[in-house]
Amino acid sequence: MPSVELKTDVAIGVAIPARNARGRVARLGSAVDAILASHEYPPVIEKLLAEALVLTALFGALLKEPGGQITLQAQTEAGIIDLLVCDYLGGELRGYIRHDPERLADAGPNPSLFALFGKGYLAITFDHPVMEERYQGIVPLEGDSLAQAAQNFFAQSEQIPSIVRLAAEKREEGWSAGGLLFQHLPEGEEGRTRIHTRLDHPDWPHIAILAGSVKSEELTDPNLPLDDLIWRLFHEEDEVRTLPAIKLTRGCRCDPVYVRSVIARFPDEEREAMIGEDGMIRVDCQFCSTSFAIEPSELSGGSEVSKA
Ligand SMILES: [Zn+2]
Repeated sequence: MPSVELKTDVAIGVAIPARNARGRVARLGSAVDAILASHEYPPVIEKLLAEALVLTALFGALLKEPGGQITLQAQTEAGIIDLLVCDYLGGELRGYIRHDPERLADAGPNPSLFALFGKGYLAITFDHPVMEERYQGIVPLEGDSLAQAAQNFFAQSEQIPSIVRLAAEKREEGWSAGGLLFQHLPEGEEGRTRIHTRLDHPDWPHIAILAGSVKSEELTDPNLPLDDLIWRLFHEEDEVRTLPAIKLTRGCRCDPVYVRSVIARFPDEEREAMIGEDGMIRVDCQFCSTSFAIEPSELSGGSEVSKA
């Protein structure tokens, strides 16, 4: 295998067969910078989005099918943040957060997860287009951190004992965000009926302790290759397999043709109401802040959309 730089904007998979455990480790650098550059978020929101993007990458790295998609969504009732959305498709990541800047400023420099989200929910959707499968799990957004909320997701929604660690810091050269996810799989692993998924399986606490011993600085250190990090954590295990690396990038899939086709489906009178002072309908992509200007006359009279 050609050596891939396993330092940043990359995820790798790990299997520890003798312990029935699998893991994913990811680190993001310039991909996070590129995503954050489309927005002007305060530091608290930037850090949270950086962690959420790493979490999304870890979920994405679990997909077996290249066309599979992961969407992570946190929604709240009356929280400072009312919506957080990240998604993953083929190594491409994007995300945004909608929040109330005034209330955030009042919450101080280190608001708790509860202060940010209030009574919130975390929904994770797995889309497998080839198998035409869609699966969504929803859990209350509880705990001190996004990592803990993700652990709850696996425990409650999937009944898979899991450990999740996330960290993000802004360095001189830009953001660095890293994370790991380890899970206990039953004997026989994927594709078979789960028989022995139990929290008290003796192999699991051992792996959870080793994985949980990772330091935030190790997750975010852009000079520490991920395979070296895995070695540090698990070098006493008999066999640790790593899977091929997945390159991670920022990618937005907003598409002017699609945006126009959506607007074209609105009734005429609703479209009229969307026309701005300059006579154009403007639609902004929430993910990348690209603004699409649409000439209303192009859309009148039906849903035929000409390609720009
Ligand atoms: Zn976009």
